[in-house]
Amino acid sequence: MSNKVKTANVRMSAMYAPTLKEDPAEAELASHRLLLRAGFIRKQAAGLYSYLPLAWRSLRKIEAIVRDEMDAAGAQELLMPILTDAELWRESGRWNAYGPELMRLHDRHERDFVLGPTHEETVTDLITNELKSYKQLPVNLYQIQDKFRDEMRPRFGLMRGREFIMKDGYSFNATQESLQETYDAMKAAYANICERCGVKALPVVADSGQIGGDTSVEFMALADAGEAALVYCDDCGFAADEEAATTNVAVLDGPGNAELTKIETPHCGTIAELAAFLKAPENATVKSLCLIDGEGKPVLALVPGDHELNDCKAEHVFGEYHLMSDEELEENHLHKGFIGPVNLPEDIRIVCDESLKHATSWGCGANEVGYHYVGIVPGRDFTPDAWADLITVHEGDPCPHCGHALTGARGIEVSQVFQLGTKYSEAMGATFADENGEEKPFLMGCYGVGVSRTLAAVVEQHNDEHGIIWPVSIAPYEVSLIPLDPGKEPCQEVCDKLFAELLDAGVETVVDDRSERPGVKFADNDLMGFPYQIILGKRGLKNGTVELKDRATGEREDVAIDEVVAKVAALVEAQRA
Ligand code: ATP
Ligand code: MG
Repeated sequence: MSNKVKTANVRMSAMYAPTLKEDPAEAELASHRLLLRAGFIRKQAAGLYSYLPLAWRSLRKIEAIVRDEMDAAGAQELLMPILTDAELWRESGRWNAYGPELMRLHDRHERDFVLGPTHEETVTDLITNELKSYKQLPVNLYQIQDKFRDEMRPRFGLMRGREFIMKDGYSFNATQESLQETYDAMKAAYANICERCGVKALPVVADSGQIGGDTSVEFMALADAGEAALVYCDDCGFAADEEAATTNVAVLDGPGNAELTKIETPHCGTIAELAAFLKAPENATVKSLCLIDGEGKPVLALVPGDHELNDCKAEHVFGEYHLMSDEELEENHLHKGFIGPVNLPEDIRIVCDESLKHATSWGCGANEVGYHYVGIVPGRDFTPDAWADLITVHEGDPCPHCGHALTGARGIEVSQVFQLGTKYSEAMGATFADENGEEKPFLMGCYGVGVSRTLAAVVEQHNDEHGIIWPVSIAPYEVSLIPLDPGKEPCQEVCDKLFAELLDAGVETVVDDRSERPGVKFADNDLMGFPYQIILGKRGLKNGTVELKDRATGEREDVAIDEVVAKVAALVEAQRA
Protein backbone atom coordinates (compact mmCIF):
# COMPACT_ATOMS: atom_id res chain seq x y z
CA MET A 1 0.00 0.00 0.00
CA SER A 2 1.35 3.44 -0.76
CA ASN A 3 0.95 6.58 1.26
CA LYS A 4 2.61 9.11 -0.97
CA VAL A 5 1.78 12.76 -1.33
CA LYS A 6 1.92 13.24 -5.06
CA THR A 7 3.94 16.40 -5.49
CA ALA A 8 7.20 17.05 -7.26
CA ASN A 9 10.42 16.77 -5.34
CA VAL A 10 11.74 20.00 -3.93
CA ARG A 11 14.88 22.10 -3.63
CA MET A 12 15.69 23.16 -0.11
CA SER A 13 16.74 26.61 -1.33
CA ALA A 14 13.13 27.16 -2.40
CA MET A 15 11.40 25.36 0.44
CA TYR A 16 9.56 27.41 3.06
CA ALA A 17 10.90 25.86 6.25
CA PRO A 18 12.42 28.58 8.41
CA THR A 19 14.56 26.85 11.03
CA LEU A 20 15.56 28.30 14.39
CA LYS A 21 19.12 28.15 15.69
CA GLU A 22 18.07 28.26 19.34
CA ASP A 23 15.50 26.31 21.26
CA PRO A 24 12.34 28.41 21.57
CA ALA A 25 11.94 29.36 25.22
CA GLU A 26 8.20 28.66 25.35
CA ALA A 27 8.51 25.02 24.31
CA GLU A 28 8.68 22.50 27.15
CA LEU A 29 8.04 19.36 25.13
CA ALA A 30 10.41 17.84 22.60
CA SER A 31 7.70 17.76 19.95
CA HIS A 32 6.77 21.40 20.43
CA ARG A 33 10.40 22.52 20.44
CA LEU A 34 11.42 20.45 17.42
CA LEU A 35 8.39 21.27 15.28
CA LEU A 36 9.09 24.97 15.86
CA ARG A 37 12.86 24.68 15.39
CA ALA A 38 12.71 22.55 12.27
CA GLY A 39 10.32 25.01 10.59
CA PHE A 40 7.18 22.83 10.67
CA ILE A 41 4.80 25.04 12.63
CA ARG A 42 4.42 28.65 13.72
CA LYS A 43 2.23 30.05 16.44
CA GLN A 44 -0.36 32.67 15.59
CA ALA A 45 -1.88 33.05 19.06
CA ALA A 46 -2.29 30.78 22.09
CA GLY A 47 -3.34 27.36 20.79
CA LEU A 48 -3.46 28.49 17.15
CA TYR A 49 -0.80 27.27 14.75
CA SER A 50 0.01 27.46 11.05
CA TYR A 51 1.15 24.20 9.59
CA LEU A 52 4.06 25.08 7.29
CA PRO A 53 4.67 23.03 4.12
CA LEU A 54 6.66 20.22 5.76
CA ALA A 55 4.10 19.69 8.53
CA TRP A 56 1.25 19.89 6.05
CA ARG A 57 2.74 17.09 3.97
CA SER A 58 3.03 14.87 7.05
CA LEU A 59 -0.49 15.76 8.15
CA ARG A 60 -1.84 14.83 4.73
CA LYS A 61 -0.13 11.46 5.05
CA ILE A 62 -1.71 10.88 8.44
CA GLU A 63 -5.06 11.84 6.93
CA ALA A 64 -4.48 9.42 4.06
CA ILE A 65 -3.83 6.60 6.52
CA VAL A 66 -6.94 7.53 8.49
CA ARG A 67 -9.08 7.62 5.33
CA ASP A 68 -7.70 4.30 4.18
CA GLU A 69 -8.52 2.62 7.47
CA MET A 70 -11.95 4.23 7.78
CA ASP A 71 -12.95 3.30 4.25
CA ALA A 72 -11.70 -0.25 4.77
CA ALA A 73 -13.84 -0.50 7.90
CA GLY A 74 -16.94 0.56 5.99
CA ALA A 75 -17.18 4.18 7.10
CA GLN A 76 -18.07 6.89 4.58
CA GLU A 77 -16.46 10.31 4.42
CA LEU A 78 -18.53 13.49 4.34
CA LEU A 79 -18.01 17.07 5.40
CA MET A 80 -20.31 19.01 7.71
CA PRO A 81 -20.17 22.73 8.48
CA ILE A 82 -17.81 23.78 11.24
CA LEU A 83 -20.27 26.46 12.29
CA THR A 84 -23.25 24.96 14.06
CA ASP A 85 -26.60 26.50 14.98
CA ALA A 86 -26.73 26.75 18.78
CA GLU A 87 -30.32 25.44 18.67
CA LEU A 88 -28.93 21.92 18.16
CA TRP A 89 -26.71 22.32 21.20
CA ARG A 90 -29.68 23.51 23.24
CA GLU A 91 -31.63 20.45 22.11
CA SER A 92 -28.90 18.08 23.25
CA GLY A 93 -28.41 19.98 26.50
CA ARG A 94 -24.76 20.68 25.80
CA TRP A 95 -25.17 24.45 25.22
CA ASN A 96 -24.97 24.65 29.01
CA ALA A 97 -23.22 21.38 29.86
CA TYR A 98 -20.16 21.85 27.64
CA GLY A 99 -19.10 24.97 29.53
CA PRO A 100 -16.51 27.59 28.63
CA GLU A 101 -14.61 25.30 26.24
CA LEU A 102 -17.36 25.89 23.71
CA MET A 103 -16.48 28.66 21.25
CA ARG A 104 -19.70 30.65 20.94
CA LEU A 105 -20.51 33.45 18.55
CA HIS A 106 -23.55 35.04 16.96
CA ASP A 107 -24.52 36.27 13.55
CA ARG A 108 -25.90 39.67 12.50
CA HIS A 109 -29.39 38.62 13.60
CA GLU A 110 -28.10 37.85 17.09
CA ARG A 111 -28.63 34.16 16.48
CA ASP A 112 -26.18 32.01 18.49
CA PHE A 113 -23.71 29.68 16.83
CA VAL A 114 -21.00 27.33 17.93
CA LEU A 115 -17.63 26.58 16.34
CA GLY A 116 -17.85 22.79 16.48
CA PRO A 117 -15.65 21.14 19.11
CA THR A 118 -17.21 17.80 18.04
CA HIS A 119 -20.23 17.05 15.85
CA GLU A 120 -22.68 14.70 17.58
CA GLU A 121 -25.42 17.33 17.36
CA THR A 122 -24.78 18.18 13.72
CA VAL A 123 -24.64 14.61 12.51
CA THR A 124 -27.69 13.54 14.52
CA ASP A 125 -29.65 16.46 13.09
CA LEU A 126 -28.36 15.56 9.63
CA ILE A 127 -29.76 12.04 9.60
CA THR A 128 -33.00 12.71 11.51
CA ASN A 129 -36.00 12.03 9.25
CA GLU A 130 -33.81 10.77 6.42
CA LEU A 131 -32.40 7.64 7.97
CA LYS A 132 -35.71 5.97 8.78
CA SER A 133 -35.61 2.21 8.75
CA TYR A 134 -33.59 -0.56 10.36
CA LYS A 135 -33.02 -1.78 6.80
CA GLN A 136 -30.73 1.19 6.14
CA LEU A 137 -28.57 0.52 9.21
CA PRO A 138 -25.83 0.53 10.25
CA VAL A 139 -24.49 3.79 8.86
CA ASN A 140 -21.03 5.04 9.79
CA LEU A 141 -20.04 8.57 8.73
CA TYR A 142 -16.79 10.45 9.24
CA GLN A 143 -15.08 13.70 8.39
CA ILE A 144 -11.64 15.25 8.78
CA GLN A 145 -11.93 18.83 9.86
CA ASP A 146 -10.70 21.64 12.11
CA LYS A 147 -12.24 21.57 15.56
CA PHE A 148 -12.39 24.39 18.07
CA ARG A 149 -12.13 24.18 21.84
CA ASP A 150 -11.40 27.10 24.10
CA GLU A 151 -9.09 24.99 26.24
CA MET A 152 -8.33 26.33 29.70
CA ARG A 153 -4.63 25.70 29.09
CA PRO A 154 -3.77 25.50 25.41
CA ARG A 155 -0.16 24.30 25.44
CA PHE A 156 2.55 22.02 24.17
CA GLY A 157 2.17 23.18 20.58
CA LEU A 158 -0.08 20.88 18.57
CA MET A 159 -0.85 18.68 21.60
CA ARG A 160 -3.49 20.93 23.06
CA GLY A 161 -4.58 23.54 20.57
CA ARG A 162 -7.69 25.69 20.47
CA GLU A 163 -8.03 24.90 16.78
CA PHE A 164 -6.88 21.43 15.76
CA ILE A 165 -7.49 18.78 13.14
CA MET A 166 -9.70 15.87 14.09
CA LYS A 167 -11.15 12.90 12.30
CA ASP A 168 -14.57 12.53 13.87
CA GLY A 169 -16.86 9.64 13.05
CA TYR A 170 -20.35 8.64 14.12
CA SER A 171 -22.23 5.40 13.72
CA PHE A 172 -25.96 4.77 13.78
CA ASN A 173 -26.97 1.26 14.71
CA ALA A 174 -30.22 -0.58 15.26
CA THR A 175 -29.11 -3.00 17.95
CA GLN A 176 -26.49 -3.25 20.67
CA GLU A 177 -24.87 -6.17 18.81
CA SER A 178 -24.56 -4.03 15.72
CA LEU A 179 -23.12 -1.11 17.69
CA GLN A 180 -20.62 -3.46 19.32
CA GLU A 181 -19.59 -4.71 15.89
CA THR A 182 -19.01 -1.20 14.52
CA TYR A 183 -17.23 -0.18 17.72
CA ASP A 184 -14.93 -3.20 17.52
CA ALA A 185 -14.18 -2.48 13.86
CA MET A 186 -13.34 1.13 14.70
CA LYS A 187 -11.14 0.01 17.57
CA ALA A 188 -9.23 -2.31 15.25
CA ALA A 189 -8.91 0.45 12.66
CA TYR A 190 -7.58 2.83 15.31
CA ALA A 191 -4.92 0.35 16.37
CA ASN A 192 -3.90 0.09 12.69
CA ILE A 193 -3.79 3.88 12.34
CA CYS A 194 -1.42 4.15 15.31
CA GLU A 195 0.79 1.43 13.98
CA ARG A 196 0.91 2.79 10.44
CA CYS A 197 1.75 6.29 11.70
CA GLY A 198 4.56 4.89 13.84
CA VAL A 199 2.83 5.63 17.15
CA LYS A 200 3.43 3.14 19.95
CA ALA A 201 0.06 3.21 21.65
CA LEU A 202 -1.83 1.28 24.29
CA PRO A 203 -5.63 0.98 24.16
CA VAL A 204 -6.84 1.85 27.65
CA VAL A 205 -10.25 1.73 29.30
CA ALA A 206 -11.42 5.34 29.47
CA ASP A 207 -13.84 7.50 31.29
CA SER A 208 -16.45 8.59 28.79
CA GLY A 209 -16.26 12.18 30.04
CA GLN A 210 -18.18 15.07 28.53
CA ILE A 211 -19.53 13.03 25.62
CA GLY A 212 -21.30 10.54 27.87
CA GLY A 213 -22.26 6.95 27.30
CA ASP A 214 -20.66 3.99 28.97
CA THR A 215 -18.13 2.05 26.93
CA SER A 216 -14.98 3.70 25.76
CA VAL A 217 -11.33 3.09 24.94
CA GLU A 218 -8.58 5.65 24.46
CA PHE A 219 -5.42 5.04 22.46
CA MET A 220 -2.54 6.38 24.51
CA ALA A 221 0.80 7.10 22.86
CA LEU A 222 3.24 6.21 25.59
CA ALA A 223 5.42 9.21 26.42
CA ASP A 224 6.91 10.51 29.65
CA ALA A 225 5.69 13.97 28.72
CA GLY A 226 2.09 12.77 28.23
CA GLU A 227 -0.62 14.64 30.09
CA ALA A 228 -2.61 11.51 30.90
CA ALA A 229 -1.73 9.06 33.67
CA LEU A 230 -2.55 5.43 33.09
CA VAL A 231 -2.00 2.06 34.68
CA TYR A 232 -1.53 -1.29 33.02
CA CYS A 233 -1.06 -4.89 34.01
CA ASP A 234 1.97 -6.73 32.67
CA ASP A 235 0.33 -10.01 33.41
CA CYS A 236 -3.15 -9.96 31.88
CA GLY A 237 -2.92 -6.89 29.60
CA PHE A 238 -5.54 -4.80 31.42
CA ALA A 239 -4.90 -1.07 30.89
CA ALA A 240 -6.91 1.92 31.98
CA ASP A 241 -6.79 5.68 32.15
CA GLU A 242 -6.26 6.79 35.70
CA GLU A 243 -9.62 8.53 35.51
CA ALA A 244 -11.34 5.26 34.74
CA ALA A 245 -9.22 2.62 36.44
CA THR A 246 -10.77 0.61 39.21
CA THR A 247 -8.92 -1.62 41.61
CA ASN A 248 -9.38 -3.64 44.73
CA VAL A 249 -6.72 -1.79 46.67
CA ALA A 250 -5.41 -3.43 49.78
CA VAL A 251 -7.07 -1.74 52.75
CA LEU A 252 -6.08 -3.02 56.18
CA ASP A 253 -8.01 -3.13 59.42
CA GLY A 254 -7.11 -0.20 61.61
CA PRO A 255 -5.42 -0.69 64.97
CA GLY A 256 -7.52 -1.85 67.94
CA ASN A 257 -9.98 -4.68 68.23
CA ALA A 258 -13.09 -3.28 66.57
CA GLU A 259 -14.22 -1.63 69.76
CA LEU A 260 -15.00 1.99 69.24
CA THR A 261 -12.23 3.73 71.15
CA LYS A 262 -11.50 7.42 71.26
CA ILE A 263 -7.80 8.19 71.52
CA GLU A 264 -5.98 11.42 72.06
CA THR A 265 -3.99 12.32 68.94
CA PRO A 266 -2.80 15.86 69.62
CA HIS A 267 -0.41 16.38 66.70
CA CYS A 268 -2.07 14.19 64.10
CA GLY A 269 -3.57 16.62 61.61
CA THR A 270 -2.47 14.57 58.58
CA ILE A 271 -2.68 10.92 57.56
CA ALA A 272 1.12 10.57 57.71
CA GLU A 273 1.20 11.90 61.27
CA LEU A 274 -1.72 9.72 62.30
CA ALA A 275 -0.22 6.57 60.79
CA ALA A 276 3.11 7.25 62.49
CA PHE A 277 1.40 7.87 65.80
CA LEU A 278 -0.72 4.70 65.54
CA LYS A 279 2.30 2.76 64.29
CA ALA A 280 0.09 1.55 61.46
CA PRO A 281 0.54 1.76 57.69
CA GLU A 282 -1.33 4.58 55.94
CA ASN A 283 -3.69 2.10 54.31
CA ALA A 284 -4.92 1.12 57.79
CA THR A 285 -6.34 4.64 58.20
CA VAL A 286 -9.26 6.36 56.55
CA LYS A 287 -9.02 9.82 55.00
CA SER A 288 -11.92 12.24 55.30
CA LEU A 289 -12.60 14.75 52.56
CA CYS A 290 -15.30 17.34 53.00
CA LEU A 291 -16.96 18.68 49.94
CA ILE A 292 -19.87 20.66 48.73
CA ASP A 293 -21.63 18.68 45.99
CA GLY A 294 -23.16 19.95 42.77
CA GLU A 295 -26.39 20.78 44.59
CA GLY A 296 -24.60 22.80 47.24
CA LYS A 297 -24.99 20.13 49.95
CA PRO A 298 -22.19 19.07 52.33
CA VAL A 299 -20.71 15.60 51.87
CA LEU A 300 -18.08 13.58 53.70
CA ALA A 301 -16.14 11.39 51.27
CA LEU A 302 -14.08 8.62 52.88
CA VAL A 303 -11.13 7.02 51.09
CA PRO A 304 -8.25 4.78 52.16
CA GLY A 305 -5.51 6.85 53.86
CA ASP A 306 -2.92 6.12 51.17
CA HIS A 307 -5.14 7.06 48.21
CA GLU A 308 -6.47 10.27 46.73
CA LEU A 309 -9.96 11.25 45.73
CA ASN A 310 -10.11 11.11 41.92
CA ASP A 311 -11.51 14.29 40.50
CA CYS A 312 -13.16 12.69 37.49
CA LYS A 313 -14.83 9.92 39.48
CA ALA A 314 -15.87 12.40 42.15
CA GLU A 315 -17.59 14.53 39.52
CA HIS A 316 -19.64 11.54 38.40
CA VAL A 317 -20.77 10.94 41.98
CA PHE A 318 -21.07 14.48 43.35
CA GLY A 319 -21.63 16.62 40.25
CA GLU A 320 -19.73 19.90 40.07
CA TYR A 321 -18.32 19.63 43.57
CA HIS A 322 -15.58 21.50 45.38
CA LEU A 323 -13.56 20.81 48.49
CA MET A 324 -14.78 22.82 51.48
CA SER A 325 -12.90 26.01 52.24
CA ASP A 326 -11.83 26.72 55.83
CA GLU A 327 -14.93 28.90 56.22
CA GLU A 328 -17.20 26.17 54.89
CA LEU A 329 -15.61 23.67 57.28
CA GLU A 330 -16.34 26.03 60.13
CA GLU A 331 -19.93 26.66 59.00
CA ASN A 332 -20.45 22.89 59.04
CA HIS A 333 -18.84 22.53 62.49
CA LEU A 334 -15.97 20.45 61.16
CA HIS A 335 -12.45 20.46 62.57
CA LYS A 336 -9.75 20.17 59.94
CA GLY A 337 -7.48 17.15 60.52
CA PHE A 338 -9.93 15.48 62.91
CA ILE A 339 -12.97 14.79 60.74
CA GLY A 340 -14.64 11.38 60.54
CA PRO A 341 -17.99 9.60 60.14
CA VAL A 342 -18.76 9.11 63.85
CA ASN A 343 -20.43 12.03 65.65
CA LEU A 344 -20.68 13.86 62.36
CA PRO A 345 -23.22 16.70 62.15
CA GLU A 346 -26.42 15.07 60.89
CA ASP A 347 -27.04 16.92 57.67
CA ILE A 348 -23.75 15.71 56.14
CA ARG A 349 -24.05 12.81 53.73
CA ILE A 350 -21.39 10.06 54.02
CA VAL A 351 -20.07 8.42 50.85
CA CYS A 352 -17.37 5.74 51.22
CA ASP A 353 -14.96 4.35 48.68
CA GLU A 354 -15.80 0.76 47.74
CA SER A 355 -12.35 -0.48 48.73
CA LEU A 356 -13.02 0.39 52.39
CA LYS A 357 -15.40 -2.58 52.45
CA HIS A 358 -12.27 -4.73 52.79
CA ALA A 359 -11.53 -3.34 56.27
CA THR A 360 -13.85 -4.28 59.09
CA SER A 361 -12.67 -1.61 61.49
CA TRP A 362 -11.41 1.84 60.64
CA GLY A 363 -9.26 4.54 62.20
CA CYS A 364 -10.52 8.05 61.50
CA GLY A 365 -11.04 11.54 62.97
CA ALA A 366 -13.42 11.92 65.93
CA ASN A 367 -14.88 15.33 65.01
CA GLU A 368 -13.18 16.78 68.02
CA VAL A 369 -9.88 18.67 67.90
CA GLY A 370 -7.02 16.43 69.06
CA TYR A 371 -8.94 13.12 68.89
CA HIS A 372 -9.38 10.15 66.56
CA TYR A 373 -11.37 6.96 66.83
CA VAL A 374 -10.02 3.50 66.19
CA GLY A 375 -12.21 0.43 65.88
CA ILE A 376 -14.93 2.21 63.89
CA VAL A 377 -17.27 -0.38 62.34
CA PRO A 378 -19.41 0.91 59.48
CA GLY A 379 -23.05 -0.01 59.97
CA ARG A 380 -22.56 -0.21 63.72
CA ASP A 381 -21.02 3.14 64.56
CA PHE A 382 -22.37 5.12 61.61
CA THR A 383 -24.41 4.44 58.51
CA PRO A 384 -22.84 5.12 55.12
CA ASP A 385 -25.30 6.81 52.76
CA ALA A 386 -23.56 5.31 49.74
CA TRP A 387 -20.54 3.36 48.52
CA ALA A 388 -18.82 4.45 45.31
CA ASP A 389 -15.61 4.13 43.34
CA LEU A 390 -13.81 7.34 44.31
CA ILE A 391 -10.05 6.88 44.31
CA THR A 392 -7.17 7.38 41.92
CA VAL A 393 -5.42 4.08 41.29
CA HIS A 394 -1.67 3.98 41.91
CA GLU A 395 1.20 2.05 40.48
CA GLY A 396 1.46 -1.09 42.62
CA ASP A 397 -2.29 -1.39 43.28
CA PRO A 398 -3.70 -4.77 42.29
CA CYS A 399 -5.07 -5.30 38.80
CA PRO A 400 -8.88 -5.51 39.01
CA HIS A 401 -8.84 -8.58 36.74
CA CYS A 402 -5.93 -10.69 37.94
CA GLY A 403 -4.56 -9.04 41.08
CA HIS A 404 -1.06 -8.58 39.68
CA ALA A 405 0.56 -5.25 40.67
CA LEU A 406 -0.27 -2.49 38.18
CA THR A 407 2.43 -0.45 36.45
CA GLY A 408 2.00 3.30 36.00
CA ALA A 409 2.81 5.15 32.78
CA ARG A 410 2.10 8.44 31.07
CA GLY A 411 0.48 8.83 27.71
CA ILE A 412 -0.80 11.19 25.07
CA GLU A 413 -4.41 10.49 24.11
CA VAL A 414 -4.28 10.30 20.32
CA SER A 415 -7.71 8.83 19.72
CA GLN A 416 -10.82 7.55 21.43
CA VAL A 417 -13.83 5.39 20.63
CA PHE A 418 -17.14 5.65 22.52
CA GLN A 419 -20.40 3.81 22.64
CA LEU A 420 -22.82 6.68 23.10
CA GLY A 421 -25.99 4.61 23.25
CA THR A 422 -29.12 6.73 22.84
CA LYS A 423 -27.88 9.88 24.61
CA TYR A 424 -28.10 12.15 21.56
CA SER A 425 -30.75 10.32 19.57
CA GLU A 426 -33.15 10.48 22.51
CA ALA A 427 -32.44 14.10 23.36
CA MET A 428 -32.82 15.12 19.73
CA GLY A 429 -35.67 12.80 18.75
CA ALA A 430 -33.70 10.81 16.16
CA THR A 431 -35.56 7.55 15.62
CA PHE A 432 -35.90 4.73 13.12
CA ALA A 433 -38.54 2.06 12.57
CA ASP A 434 -37.41 -1.39 13.74
CA GLU A 435 -38.47 -4.76 12.26
CA ASN A 436 -41.86 -4.51 13.96
CA GLY A 437 -42.44 -0.98 12.76
CA GLU A 438 -41.79 0.40 16.21
CA GLU A 439 -40.03 3.81 16.44
CA LYS A 440 -36.78 3.56 18.36
CA PRO A 441 -33.91 5.97 19.07
CA PHE A 442 -30.71 5.09 17.21
CA LEU A 443 -27.88 3.53 19.11
CA MET A 444 -24.85 5.67 18.37
CA GLY A 445 -21.09 5.40 18.57
CA CYS A 446 -18.54 8.14 18.10
CA TYR A 447 -14.92 7.80 17.11
CA GLY A 448 -12.27 10.54 17.15
CA VAL A 449 -8.67 10.72 16.01
CA GLY A 450 -6.54 13.74 16.88
CA VAL A 451 -4.80 14.17 13.52
CA SER A 452 -2.65 17.16 14.46
CA ARG A 453 -2.02 15.73 17.93
CA THR A 454 -0.87 12.48 16.30
CA LEU A 455 1.78 14.43 14.40
CA ALA A 456 3.09 15.83 17.69
CA ALA A 457 2.89 12.40 19.37
CA VAL A 458 5.01 10.87 16.62
CA VAL A 459 7.69 13.51 17.15
CA GLU A 460 7.48 12.99 20.91
CA GLN A 461 8.24 9.30 20.39
CA HIS A 462 10.74 9.68 17.54
CA ASN A 463 13.50 12.17 18.21
CA ASP A 464 17.06 12.44 19.48
CA GLU A 465 19.45 15.22 20.47
CA HIS A 466 19.84 16.17 16.80
CA GLY A 467 16.18 16.50 15.93
CA ILE A 468 13.17 14.65 14.57
CA ILE A 469 13.36 11.09 13.22
CA TRP A 470 10.33 10.62 10.99
CA PRO A 471 8.94 7.18 10.35
CA VAL A 472 8.90 6.77 6.57
CA SER A 473 5.11 6.42 6.56
CA ILE A 474 4.48 10.04 7.52
CA ALA A 475 7.81 11.73 6.72
CA PRO A 476 7.35 14.97 4.78
CA TYR A 477 10.03 13.71 2.39
CA GLU A 478 11.52 10.25 2.44
CA VAL A 479 15.03 11.12 1.36
CA SER A 480 17.27 14.17 1.40
CA LEU A 481 19.97 14.44 -1.19
CA ILE A 482 22.90 16.42 0.19
CA PRO A 483 25.56 17.60 -2.28
CA LEU A 484 28.49 18.99 -0.29
CA ASP A 485 29.85 20.95 -3.26
CA PRO A 486 26.78 22.15 -5.14
CA GLY A 487 27.58 23.89 -8.40
CA LYS A 488 30.91 22.07 -8.70
CA GLU A 489 31.65 19.06 -10.84
CA PRO A 490 31.35 16.15 -10.53
CA CYS A 491 29.15 16.81 -7.50
CA GLN A 492 26.47 18.79 -9.36
CA GLU A 493 26.22 16.34 -12.23
CA VAL A 494 25.82 13.33 -9.93
CA CYS A 495 23.33 15.25 -7.83
CA ASP A 496 21.17 16.14 -10.85
CA LYS A 497 21.27 12.56 -12.06
CA LEU A 498 20.28 11.11 -8.68
CA PHE A 499 17.57 13.73 -8.15
CA ALA A 500 16.02 12.84 -11.51
CA GLU A 501 16.29 9.12 -10.85
CA LEU A 502 14.73 9.46 -7.40
CA LEU A 503 11.83 11.36 -8.95
CA ASP A 504 11.43 8.60 -11.55
CA ALA A 505 11.56 5.96 -8.84
CA GLY A 506 8.77 7.76 -7.00
CA VAL A 507 10.90 8.52 -3.96
CA GLU A 508 9.91 11.78 -2.30
CA THR A 509 13.12 13.73 -2.18
CA VAL A 510 14.35 17.10 -1.04
CA VAL A 511 17.70 18.20 -2.41
CA ASP A 512 19.75 20.44 -0.17
CA ASP A 513 21.09 22.63 -2.95
CA ARG A 514 22.02 25.47 -0.58
CA SER A 515 25.61 26.70 -0.61
CA GLU A 516 25.95 26.16 3.14
CA ARG A 517 28.83 24.53 4.99
CA PRO A 518 28.52 20.72 5.32
CA GLY A 519 28.05 21.06 9.09
CA VAL A 520 25.04 23.34 8.61
CA LYS A 521 23.49 20.99 6.09
CA PHE A 522 23.98 17.94 8.29
CA ALA A 523 22.49 19.75 11.25
CA ASP A 524 19.43 20.98 9.33
CA ASN A 525 18.73 17.63 7.68
CA ASP A 526 19.05 15.82 11.00
CA LEU A 527 16.79 18.42 12.62
CA MET A 528 14.08 18.07 9.94
CA GLY A 529 14.36 14.33 10.29
CA PHE A 530 14.11 12.91 6.76
CA PRO A 531 14.52 9.12 7.17
CA TYR A 532 17.38 8.72 4.69
CA GLN A 533 20.16 11.04 3.59
CA ILE A 534 22.27 10.56 0.49
CA ILE A 535 25.47 12.52 1.01
CA LEU A 536 27.61 13.47 -1.98
CA GLY A 537 31.17 14.12 -0.75
CA LYS A 538 34.38 14.64 -2.67
CA ARG A 539 36.18 11.54 -1.51
CA GLY A 540 33.36 9.15 -2.28
CA LEU A 541 32.60 10.64 -5.67
CA LYS A 542 36.18 9.99 -6.69
CA ASN A 543 35.54 6.29 -6.07
CA GLY A 544 32.10 6.34 -7.63
CA THR A 545 30.24 6.17 -4.30
CA VAL A 546 27.92 8.24 -2.16
CA GLU A 547 27.09 7.86 1.51
CA LEU A 548 23.68 6.56 2.53
CA LYS A 549 22.76 7.56 6.07
CA ASP A 550 19.91 6.09 8.05
CA ARG A 551 18.60 8.94 10.24
CA ALA A 552 17.16 6.59 12.87
CA THR A 553 20.29 4.53 13.51
CA GLY A 554 22.87 7.08 12.37
CA GLU A 555 24.54 4.33 10.33
CA ARG A 556 26.35 5.43 7.19
CA GLU A 557 27.32 3.21 4.35
CA ASP A 558 29.16 3.79 1.06
CA VAL A 559 26.98 2.80 -1.88
CA ALA A 560 27.83 2.87 -5.58
CA ILE A 561 26.27 5.86 -7.35
CA ASP A 562 24.53 3.51 -9.76
CA GLU A 563 22.96 1.46 -6.98
CA VAL A 564 21.89 3.99 -4.42
CA VAL A 565 18.51 4.91 -5.90
CA ALA A 566 17.36 1.29 -6.20
CA LYS A 567 18.59 0.64 -2.69
CA VAL A 568 16.90 3.61 -1.08
CA ALA A 569 13.72 3.08 -3.11
CA ALA A 570 13.49 -0.48 -1.78
CA LEU A 571 14.09 0.70 1.77
CA VAL A 572 11.35 3.32 1.72
CA GLU A 573 8.90 1.15 -0.20
CA ALA A 574 9.15 -1.47 2.53
CA GLN A 575 8.29 1.09 5.19
CA ARG A 576 5.52 3.09 3.53
CA ALA A 577 2.28 2.56 5.40
P1 ATP B 1 -8.30 15.60 26.13
O1 ATP B 1 -8.74 14.68 27.23
O2 ATP B 1 -6.86 15.46 25.76
O3 ATP B 1 -8.73 17.02 26.33
P2 ATP B 1 -10.65 14.79 24.78
O4 ATP B 1 -10.86 13.44 25.37
O5 ATP B 1 -11.41 15.94 25.28
O6 ATP B 1 -9.08 15.14 24.83
P3 ATP B 1 -11.97 13.91 22.38
O7 ATP B 1 -13.23 14.64 22.54
O8 ATP B 1 -11.93 12.47 22.68
O9 ATP B 1 -10.82 14.69 23.19
O10 ATP B 1 -11.42 14.21 20.90
C1 ATP B 1 -10.88 13.23 20.03
C2 ATP B 1 -9.40 13.42 19.83
O11 ATP B 1 -9.09 14.76 19.45
C3 ATP B 1 -8.59 13.21 21.11
O12 ATP B 1 -8.35 11.84 21.30
C4 ATP B 1 -7.33 13.99 20.82
O13 ATP B 1 -6.41 13.21 20.07
C5 ATP B 1 -7.81 15.12 19.95
N1 ATP B 1 -7.90 16.38 20.72
C6 ATP B 1 -8.80 16.70 21.66
N2 ATP B 1 -8.60 17.93 22.14
C7 ATP B 1 -7.52 18.42 21.47
C8 ATP B 1 -6.81 19.66 21.48
N3 ATP B 1 -7.17 20.64 22.29
N4 ATP B 1 -5.75 19.80 20.64
C9 ATP B 1 -5.38 18.81 19.81
N5 ATP B 1 -6.02 17.63 19.74
C10 ATP B 1 -7.07 17.43 20.55
MG1 MG C 1 -11.02 11.83 24.48
